[in-house]
This record gives sequence, C-alpha cells and structure tokens, in this order.
Amino acid sequence: MNTDRSHALFTRAQELMPGGVNSPVRAFRSVGGEPFFAARAEGAYIEDVDGNRYLDYVGSWGPMIAGHAHPAVLEAVAKVMRDGLSFGVPNALEVEMAEEVRRLVPSMEMLRMVNSGTEATLSAIRLARGATGRSRIVKFEGCYHGHGDSFLVKAGSGALTFGVPNSPGVPKALADLTLTLPYNDFEAATRLFQEQGADIAGVIVEPIVGNANCILPREGYLQHLRALCTKHGSVLIFDEVMTGFRVALGGAQARYGVTPDLSTFGKIIGGGMPVGAYGGKAELMRQVAPSGPIYQAGTLSGNPVAMAAGLATLKLIQEPGFHETLETRTHRLCDGLEAAAAEAGVAVTTNRSCAMFGLFFSREKVETFAQAVACDTAAYGRFFHGLLRRGVYFAPSAFEAGFLSSAHGDAEIDRTLEAARAAFREVRAG
Ligand code: PMP
Repeated sequence: MNTDRSHALFTRAQELMPGGVNSPVRAFRSVGGEPFFAARAEGAYIEDVDGNRYLDYVGSWGPMIAGHAHPAVLEAVAKVMRDGLSFGVPNALEVEMAEEVRRLVPSMEMLRMVNSGTEATLSAIRLARGATGRSRIVKFEGCYHGHGDSFLVKAGSGALTFGVPNSPGVPKALADLTLTLPYNDFEAATRLFQEQGADIAGVIVEPIVGNANCILPREGYLQHLRALCTKHGSVLIFDEVMTGFRVALGGAQARYGVTPDLSTFGKIIGGGMPVGAYGGKAELMRQVAPSGPIYQAGTLSGNPVAMAAGLATLKLIQEPGFHETLETRTHRLCDGLEAAAAEAGVAVTTNRSCAMFGLFFSREKVETFAQAVACDTAAYGRFFHGLLRRGVYFAPSAFEAGFLSSAHGDAEIDRTLEAARAAFREVRAG
C-alpha cells in the first residue's frame, strides 16, 4: 500500500498544526502509524490522496449516515449555495429545520441552531445554570461533550485516548463545579443527589455512551436519572450529538422512552456541514436571548448551506425501513465480528444500537466505563492496522464507537468480516 502522498502531507502538517491535525484523534496516535489524507469519499468508501480506497466505519465521526457524498445532499447544497453562502438575517431553511426537528423529536419544543456539538452542549449548560440559578453540573466518566471547559473533566473520546481527561487550561474553580459519576451506577447517582441535589443545575449524559467505545444504558438507568432530576429540580440534558437520528429517528430518547428537558444535536443534523443544535422545553428555551436574558449567539448559525445539507439528510433517513435495515446490518456485522474473533481464539465482545456499535477486546460484556478502559487497547491497535491494510477503516482509537451508513450493504459487511478474520488471526499471533 503506497502512502507517499499522505506521508508528505503529514510531514508538512506537523510543522503547521498541533500534531499535524485539526482534531486530536485524527493523528492516529493511540493506534500508532500515520493518518491517511482523504481525497474524496462516496457511499461507504473513502479514498486517500495515494489512491487507496477504504471501507469506512467512521463516517466523518457520525454525520454520514446516508453514506458519503449522497447525490440528494450534494444537490440540495449546490442549489442553495448559488443564492449565497451566508446572509446574517433569518432565512426560510432555518424555520424548516426547526419544524422538522420538532416533528422528529417532540421534546424539542423550541431550539436553536449552532455550528458544532461543542457549542450546543456549552449553550445547554449555560441555560441550565441560568434557569436554575445553580452552578454545579453532573457528567459521567468517559462521556465526551465537546471541548467546553466544564466538560473536560474525566472526559471520553480524544481526552481519554490521550490520557488527559482533565485538561490544563481549565480553571480549577470551574472544574470544581463539574461533578462526575460512573455511568450505569444507580446508587452513586442517588447518593450524589441526596448530598448535593439542591446545587445541581443539570445533568448531561450521552444516553448511549459513544465516546468510551459504545456502552448501552442498563434497564431503567435513564429513567432513574430522569426521576432524580425531576425530584431535585435539575435540568436533564441528553447529549444526542452522536445518537440523535442514528439509534432511532427520534434518537435515544425515543428508543428508551425518556424525555429530557434539553437535548443537544450535531453530526447528522448537518449532513456533513458544521452544525449543532440545542433545544427542549419552551419554558427553558424562552430564557435564551433575545426573548430572555441568557446570552448565546452565532454569526454563521442557521447557515443556509448547512441547513440544506442537514434537511436533505433528515429527509433521507425518513425513508421507510431506513433504521430497521441499518439495525439488521449492524447485528450481522457485530455477530460476524464476534464469530470471527472466536474462530481465531481472541476474546472480543460487541455492543450495538441500530447504526452504532462498539468492539471490545474483552472477555466480559462491557456495561461500565471501568470495564471499557480495562480492555486490551494494544490488541485493538493491531486489529485496526490489520483491517486498514486490507482496506477497512475502523476508528483510530479503542474508545470510539463505530458507525454504519445506509451505503453499507451485505457485500460491504462480507468484505469487512473477511478482513476481520485475517486481522484477528494476526492479533492472536501477537
Ligand atoms: N457530544 C458528543 C456526544 C460527541 O460525540 C461530540 C463529538 N464527537 C460532541 C459533543 C462535540 O461535537 P463537536 O466535535 O461537533 O464539537
């Protein structure tokens, strides 16, 4: 596999950008080696600047649920773009987007579009604090909510991959206001609320954790958090940046039948453009400027091109059977991976929810963050490179969920399993 051009670009990039990248996990540090530089992508495949083609299970970290460069999305973007890239006054697509989101996710009575998941979560937290007049927030170990100061405390994703879960640069006074809990531990949540409930502005949680690999909520856990927040007057925030429109049309809140006070979205809602959204109860959202005093704004928020890409993607995922087909294929993939690992004598388990999944080098089923970090990350690194050499691209970290798109058909899954059988044998050989 020739990687000369990627290597040359990475050499240049390292002089110019921290680690040669604009977002940490892209540097491939935890799996070793160097990243490939993308030239184009289509459907389930991404091609690098050296002409290598990879079957892609990262999908730009989530947005590409309808496959890369879907013609309907490209067409919508091209059409809108001819009328101008940004207006700085309201446009009709923003209203359409808000209506569409509220129809698909009824808890989003009112919402605001922003430009990234990070913006969405930090705006949601400000609103929770402003509305309750309290300052403490609760997050869960291994959950990642973007790089806002309050969230870089025991965070997942890149912060976990690089072992810097508490970032320098976050003032201690602020970090002290972030309380952390072990995800899926009922007792710990009850105890924390008993002790500090009156000071807790809000609880933010990835309803399915996708930034410490992929961990599903135990039966009743999200309901438990809902009940605690209701009892203590705290704002329950579901961070559905990853799970939104992916694990079900209505997100994890629809899948588990739990209604948060606020939700955050990103990724799919922008169809590949830089977009985020936050929203929820009207009585809370009315407190945001200019209808209320809690400030939040954005020069490019509601950008017409981004709205067009997002709306086109949201339309595609409403085709009958869209999520059902994805779910069937994810099961096929995960069952196949478990079987391939067993055949090779490698201990592996998977978690899955519709179009997202986690692969753990572990003997036991993973339900907690502690179990996720105890997995064999070195084995994952060997497996990752075994797949990559065979043209299959999994996330370049053991702590990220995998994603399927509607372009991942049975033929793609067969190819993946064939590559996985060989990669697991290499892992076994050490
Ligand atoms: N929340 C979750 C659950 C995420 O997975 C991410 C990004 N992976 C974010 C927030 C931050 O989004 P962004 O990278 O768009 O700022």
